[in-house]
Amino acid sequence: MPDDLINSYLTGPDEQGRFGPFGGRFVSETLMPLILELEAQYERAKTDASFWAEMDDLWTHYVGRPSPLYLAQRLTEHLGGAKVYMKRDELNHTGAHKINNVLGQIILARRMGKTRIIAETGAGQHGVATATVCAKFGLQCVVYMGAHDVERQQPNVFRMKLLGAEVVPVTSGRGTLKDAMNDALRDWVTNVRDTFYCIGTVAGPHPYPAMVRDFQAIIGKETRQQMMAAEGRLPDTLVAAIGGGSNAMGLFYPFLDDKEVAIVGVEAGGKGVNDKMEHCASLTGGRPGVLHGNRTYLLQDDDGQILEGFSISAGLDYPGIGPEHAWLHETRRAQYVAITDAEALEAFKLCCALEGIIPALEPSHALAQVMKLAPTLPRDHLIVMNMCGRGDKDIFTVARALGVDL
Ligand SMILES: *Cc1c(COP(=O)(O)O)cnc(C)c1O
Repeated sequence: MPDDLINSYLTGPDEQGRFGPFGGRFVSETLMPLILELEAQYERAKTDASFWAEMDDLWTHYVGRPSPLYLAQRLTEHLGGAKVYMKRDELNHTGAHKINNVLGQIILARRMGKTRIIAETGAGQHGVATATVCAKFGLQCVVYMGAHDVERQQPNVFRMKLLGAEVVPVTSGRGTLKDAMNDALRDWVTNVRDTFYCIGTVAGPHPYPAMVRDFQAIIGKETRQQMMAAEGRLPDTLVAAIGGGSNAMGLFYPFLDDKEVAIVGVEAGGKGVNDKMEHCASLTGGRPGVLHGNRTYLLQDDDGQILEGFSISAGLDYPGIGPEHAWLHETRRAQYVAITDAEALEAFKLCCALEGIIPALEPSHALAQVMKLAPTLPRDHLIVMNMCGRGDKDIFTVARALGVDL
């Protein structure tokens, strides 16, 4: 269905969890009762003022929200076109947007009487956010992580252990994020009574994509208010990086029905979107299929085997994308582009030099797209890019890419 025939994007998904032909819940019969129970509990919490009061209190005092909306003055002058604002979610506790969602799910888990939290993690950022909130509430935490990622992400593995979590290396499949998520789903089925599965992005079976989006939507809600205060009107263009798509959905969602606001999602183009699959651009270079309980665009070969993507940014290398993004792509409400490793590195360097902000490599992809767009737009055009994570975790990767020996 084309965009101009859609009355509202804010009502989705339908009762089956579908966004048009995407999403849903493709799960085994053993998992179904858990999913339905979670959905019922989330529906109840969503309209419960005391649930959101608890969230607000922790967002303010534990996470440090609201995050600022910052006019990047020198970057704007340098690019010589549109006015560039950054939504500073890298200033959150733990250094990224992930904690917005983790807090929501763990408050829900506590309401459901669950005492054991499990999570999957790729680069380790979601694992660290989950271990953090579990420590705060005294909950048992088990994080599934591909064995290959455990090797590559030692600092985050150590952080999780310091925070009291057990990190389980996953050796099935290729030992990466996709396999970790499968093992976490298996754990959930075998430990139904006390366990809550905290998913890190807008993926998985319904209600996860909608629930994670609702928790991350605080990013877009604040942006609306802050832009009204700063400029007296809505922004013209929103730009965000996409791994699974949660920080992007969080920024985009409150603006979906404002059709005058252009929306751009930025996938990881790796070494270039080619048939060697040295990228993670699920929409730009993938096809629809089913993974982790939902139907969406996936990186896959001709036989439907899921392929491992490639990106300089470990946080972007999920082989799928949230089903709501697949829907926004097909309706053309949002535009999706790919940015290469080399372009992201240039943006990373520019942001350090001009703004005194060391960005994570994920939002560096969004910034690289802003660098292409801003010079083509008039000076009164307002762009907001989501600075969804800080770059401390990435300095070793960047040093290697720049040929610097630390
Ligand atoms: C995890 C992560 C991402 C990718 O996840 P999304 O669900 O697409 O937001 C992007 N940026 C940062 C900083 C991350 O930690």
